[in-house]
Amino acid sequence: MTIQIDIDDTITWAPAFFAWLSRALKRDGHRVRIVTARGRHLGEPEATAAELRKFGLVWDDLVLSEPVPEIDLADLPEDFPEGLIHLWPKCRATMAEPPDLVFDDSLEVNALLARYLPRVKILRPMNTWVSAPEGSFGNMAGRGWSK
Ligand SMILES: [Mg+2]
Repeated sequence: MTIQIDIDDTITWAPAFFAWLSRALKRDGHRVRIVTARGRHLGEPEATAAELRKFGLVWDDLVLSEPVPEIDLADLPEDFPEGLIHLWPKCRATMAEPPDLVFDDSLEVNALLARYLPRVKILRPMNTWVSAPEGSFGNMAGRGWSK
């Protein structure tokens, strides 16, 4: 399998888990790609790799995105949302080597990958509290749920 993992609010959300996962995957012969919207600014690739090593991750491929003014739009799908151009490098890298499974916290990335790579399975860490509609927890009464 090829497993693709995002960095910010994914690896950084649970670094010990992703360190273990990346090592287990590599040990068992799978491919680990880390694909991020972080830019390829001067020093950023080295700093990002150092951060991942500090977390204990291992990987086959680390792909950073080019800064927005430098994004190559040659292969941009006609229906790609204009407001999400900054995510095109990440999508393009994913489409170039479609993974079996993606971990990515971004709803926008999830939606874009679902559009362009509908067969790829996506797991999304829940980094922020999602508020439930008023009173929805009241239905939990009597089911063993308590505050
Ligand atoms: Mg992220």
